[in-house]
Amino acid sequence: ATPMSVMVGVGRGAKEGVLIRDAEILEIMEKVDTIVVDKTGTLTKGRSAVTAIETQGDWSESDVLAIAAAVEQSSEHPLGRAIVEYAEASDTQRRVAKDFQSTTGKGVVAEVDGKHVAIGNPNWLAELNVTGLESVRDPAEQHQANAATVVYVAVDRSLAAIIAIKDPIKSSTPDAIQALHSLGLRVVMLTGDARSTAEAVAKQLGIDDFRANVSPEAKHDFVQQLKQEGKTVAMCGDGINDAPALAASNVGIAMGTGTSVAMESAGVTLVGGDLRGVVAAKQLSQKTMRNIR
Ligand code: ADP
Ligand code: MG
Repeated sequence: ATPMSVMVGVGRGAKEGVLIRDAEILEIMEKVDTIVVDKTGTLTKGRSAVTAIETQGDWSESDVLAIAAAVEQSSEHPLGRAIVEYAEASDTQRRVAKDFQSTTGKGVVAEVDGKHVAIGNPNWLAELNVTGLESVRDPAEQHQANAATVVYVAVDRSLAAIIAIKDPIKSSTPDAIQALHSLGLRVVMLTGDARSTAEAVAKQLGIDDFRANVSPEAKHDFVQQLKQEGKTVAMCGDGINDAPALAASNVGIAMGTGTSVAMESAGVTLVGGDLRGVVAAKQLSQKTMRNIR
């Protein structure tokens, strides 16, 4: 039977926007020593905005935008939404894409006006035999050092543009990270994003432990590895790409603002997507377990 004080703890969490699926989670939370956090949509708003488009060759900004928006129309990814919103705001011509395919953590492809269009990270586009990726290395680095994510747009396997997209850090995140550190917890940031973007975000938040270019499987493996080392791990994430890691962790913590797949894979949901809920959950678990003993 669940002790009364645990039930009370779960109820108290709910009032603070920390939805705890079952009482046992509160007991495990007390033992958590490592917090693994996803970047996009977890530390950041996940509501990105386009900050720059740099086209290649004869491509005009409006043509690239029209094609990219047509493809991203079918994507649920925050990066995709940013491109669509930017295209709508700049009144570009509407195009229709067909044969849309999304590869989680890598990018999207579709056909627009008979052309093969691929949008995503450069490693993946290289695998798709896209040419011209090296020529934008310097501008891409510059945007990334500014904490922007750079996505690459290729048409018929030739680079047409890079799009810099900036996703602001949530106002609640710095406090949350600081509080987690002062509770003596190790905080590790994992992201599918590029190294320099990850570094810029981590630096702003005082996180010195981070991994970039991490695929959804690698996020899962990283959590698994920590558990094998004897750590008790809470994984915080918002996306489909985080679901395997959430499921593998001791306590999966999903952002209530994220995808339902993440919430289904997690034991805790933070209603407003406010990471301070992790601090609240940890403190609640400590109080509750002290009451039981
Ligand atoms: P994170 O781990 O930070 O939440 P993801 O794993 O979702 O990031 O994505 C990793 C990378 O894959 C992105 O930085 C981007 O380069 C690429 N990508 C994924 N989905 C899309 C998309 N819909 N459009 C463009 N690029 C995408
Ligand atoms: Mg995410």
